[in-house]
Order: sequence, then C-alpha cells, then structure tokens
Amino acid sequence: MRNEGITVTEPMEDRQGQALELTGAEGPGRKLYIETYGCQMNFSDSGIVASVLGAEGFSTTTEMEEADVALVNTCSIRDNAEKRIRGRLDVLRLAKRNRPKMVIGVMGCMAERLKTRLLEEEKLVDIVVGPDSYRDLPNLVREATSGQQAVNVLLSREETYADISPVRLGGNGVSAFISITRGCDNMCSFCVVPFTRGRERSRNPGSIVEEARQLFKKGYREVTLLGQNVDSYLWGGGGWKKDILARNDLSDTVNFAELLVTVAKVDPDLRVRFSTSHPKDMDDDVLHAMAKYENICSYIHLPVQSGSTRLLGLMNRGYTREWYLERIRKIRETVPDCGISTDIITGFCTETKEDHKDTLGLMGEVGYDSAYMFKYSERPATAAARNMEDDVPEDLKGTRLAEVISLQNSMSLASNEQDMGKVHRVLVEGESKRSAEKLQGRNPQNKVVVFPKKDHRKGDYVNVLVDDCTSATLLGVAVSDKTSEVSVLEKKNDS
Ligand code: SAM
Ligand code: SF4
Repeated sequence: MRNEGITVTEPMEDRQGQALELTGAEGPGRKLYIETYGCQMNFSDSGIVASVLGAEGFSTTTEMEEADVALVNTCSIRDNAEKRIRGRLDVLRLAKRNRPKMVIGVMGCMAERLKTRLLEEEKLVDIVVGPDSYRDLPNLVREATSGQQAVNVLLSREETYADISPVRLGGNGVSAFISITRGCDNMCSFCVVPFTRGRERSRNPGSIVEEARQLFKKGYREVTLLGQNVDSYLWGGGGWKKDILARNDLSDTVNFAELLVTVAKVDPDLRVRFSTSHPKDMDDDVLHAMAKYENICSYIHLPVQSGSTRLLGLMNRGYTREWYLERIRKIRETVPDCGISTDIITGFCTETKEDHKDTLGLMGEVGYDSAYMFKYSERPATAAARNMEDDVPEDLKGTRLAEVISLQNSMSLASNEQDMGKVHRVLVEGESKRSAEKLQGRNPQNKVVVFPKKDHRKGDYVNVLVDDCTSATLLGVAVSDKTSEVSVLEKKNDS
C-alpha cells in the first residue's frame, strides 16, 4: 500500500484541454479542432458540436495547425479555469498568423460572460457561441469565414439537443456520457452555472433510452447520465422545469428514478451511472432503484461543499449538515456497498476556523472514497459576489484546502485498503496508463482497478482480486468467473 498523495482535485483533470478526435472521421472535408475544458457536460457538448459540424462535412483533427475551424469549449466555474483558457486563446491567435483563414471560436460557459471583451476589445476570436446555440454553428462559421464577427449566446427555453446523436470524441469506446438535463435552477450563491447555462430543462426520456440502446449496440458497456442536478430531472413534454412544476397535475411526468430504471432495463450488461446528485433532491426511490438493479452502479457523487450549516445557508444549498448526514445514513442503509464522493469548497465568504473544523469533521464522519476539492473563487454576478465579501485571505484558503486534501488522501487510502482481499467486478476501459502489459477499468464504486492483461480485452467484465493499492488505484489479478460467487460486492438483481 502506498500513499502517493495523488488525490485528483479537479474533475476530468486528465482530459482538460485535450483536442478530441473522432476516429474514422478523417477525410478531404474541412477540419475541425476542438479543445475542451471543464466538466463532463462540456465534453458531452463537444460531441454535439462535432455532430452538428460533421453534418456540414467537417472532420475532426487533433492538430491545431491543420484546422479550418478551431473551437475552445470553455469553463467559467473558477477564475483559474478562465485564465488557463485565455492562455490557450493566445496560442490559437498566434497559430492564426500562419493560417489567416482559420476561424477561431469560443463556445460554452465563457461565451455569454465575455463575448464583448473577446470579440470587440481584445479581438481574440471570430465566433462566440453559447451552450444553447450550437445548432447555429454552421451559420456562424459561414459568417466568420466571410469576415464578419459571429455571435449567438441566446439561452433557450427548450433546447436539449435531444435529436442530435453526439459524436463520441476521444472516448474509450466502452463508456459514454448521456446528457439528460441542461441548465440549473438552484442558484447556489457561489456558482456561475445558472448564469452561463440558463434555466433547467429535462430531455425527452425516449431519446435518452434510445441513445443508450444505440450505444450498447455499438459495443459501449457503460453510460453516465449527466446533469448539474440529475435528481431534479422531470420530463413533462419539454420546456423549463419551473413551468412544469407550476402545473396542477404532474401525473404524466417522468422523474429521475423512473428514467434510471428504464435505462437500466436496456440490458443487464450495460452499466448505468449518473452525476451529479444534489443532497436536497436525492430521494429514496433512486436508492431503491440502485439496490434493485445490479447494473446501476453503487456509486453516488454527492457534493456537500461545506460541513457548516451556517455556511451551507450562505451558500443557498438548501440543506443542513444534519440533513446531509441523514442522506448519507440512508444511502449506507439502502445500498450498503455504495461508493461515495463529494465536492468541497474551502474559504467561502466568512468561513471561520470552526466552520472549517466542521468540514473536516463531516469528512471524517462520512469517510468519503474520493473528493474534488477547491478554493473558493469569486465569480462575477453571483449572489455571493453581489452581497458578500470574499474575506478569507488567499493563503488561508490554501492552507485549509491543503488540510482538506491531506485528510481526503488518507481517507482514500483507508477506503482502498478495505477493498483489499475482495473480488471486484471490473469493466475494462483499456490499457493501464503506466504499462501496456496491464489493463485498467473501474469497479461499480467508480474506483480504478489495474491488473495484468493476459487474454482480457477492452469492454470485458473481469473479476479481479485486489491485493494491493495506492490512495488512487486498486491493484490485483483477474480470477476465474467462479470466484464472483464470493464477491462481497455482488447485489441482488431482479432480472
Ligand atoms: N451541480 C453540481 C452540484 O451542485 O453539486 C456541481 C457543479 S460545479 C460544475 C462543480 C463544483 O465546482 C461544485 O460542486 C463546487 O464544489 C465547485 N464550484 C462551483 N463554483 C465554485 C466557485 N465559485 N469557487 C470554487 N469552487 C466552485
Ligand atoms: Fe451550481 Fe448549485 Fe447548480 Fe451545482 S446545483 S450547478 S453548484 S448552482
């Protein structure tokens, strides 16, 4: 066992800024280059954009120098994310000197916030396109190619891209994201998402299930249902959730637990995951569905943000510390083998030593398997920026973050040590990053498991006996299928 101190502090860290390529889409057509930053939603959106422009004859490339259109899919969630992206735009601008006809565009969350600055003041880009306007990209590219500035940052009441089958860019061919909601109505006081991505809308369940079915047919064995708050999913014929809730009769609606079960029934060999769950909305029906269907993975990402009820109030999260801990108790009771991870912010406005201690205490009480941990970063236009003072000094935010990370590293290692000596059902995602002789995949609890390749292949389910670990990875050997009978991680399936 080794504590290598490698707790990941950013989601999708290993894919940030990756230029994504659709294999098999090489061709004589114009070339599209997309760099993606931010959350899983953004990676999923890049696939939608590749699909929209693919229909116009574009193929994808990972070489910026050969691009006709270069897009950066941006993230505004923290100031450092924006800074990093601005650096990349400078690089693209330089590349344009050698390739003057290349069209440069900014898409995603920074589009609305920074459109005037990027287009007019700094003249950094030719196209600015917001998250709800990707269908307009062919027009915007035409406008930009003819030398005009092209902008569409309108946020929509209806758009969910339900009918667009996203191109699976740069994926492993085994696991895929399916977007089920867009936008967010929660207005957490620190968060810019409701401003950049608009109001919450749910996608037609028929189109979600069909996408899962098609993915399974193509050989995919895992789908992750994506939304800022998946538990809030509510299909009522389209449009904003707030308008659906205003109706008197909700009898013909579909909620998240119902959707989850329908997707799980596509095939018992298709694993189903979901992200992100919101503690105020995660209800028992979802937990019962997880307990009942073996292919719904025993894993919940349940961001707490802070362990202090006072700060949770200021953050407008809609729950208290006690409510959160009760949700955890219910998860453990209903899905005993459930892996649990979280998001934590240190140094939010007015955070005291006691608030910070409450966070560390809550982390210890829950015993998270992993966590994404951040320093608070004030975002313009949010309620916190308008009404509260960002008064915790940067170095103190950093000290507290280091304490949170250090605690999480030791808890992740302890959690992994507990998995040693057990057999885990692993869906193989490909070769291990460190050795071509080994494969890696994940167990239902979302832990990465590495083991010798032998005859096993990508897309296989393999039972692996774990005999070693780091704080980030389980290590083991494949055992015969018979051994799965002794797996402590098996659940009953209703089949
Ligand atoms: N919708 C999800 C939820 O509410 O749990 C999370 C969405 S957000 C993309 C991912 C995480 O970024 C949040 O859970 C929060 O921890 C972090 N985050 C959001 N705004 C932030 C800010 N202003 N400063 C630091 N971290 C922030
Ligand atoms: Fe942001 Fe809160 Fe919505 Fe998550 S739930 S996206 S943190 S406003």
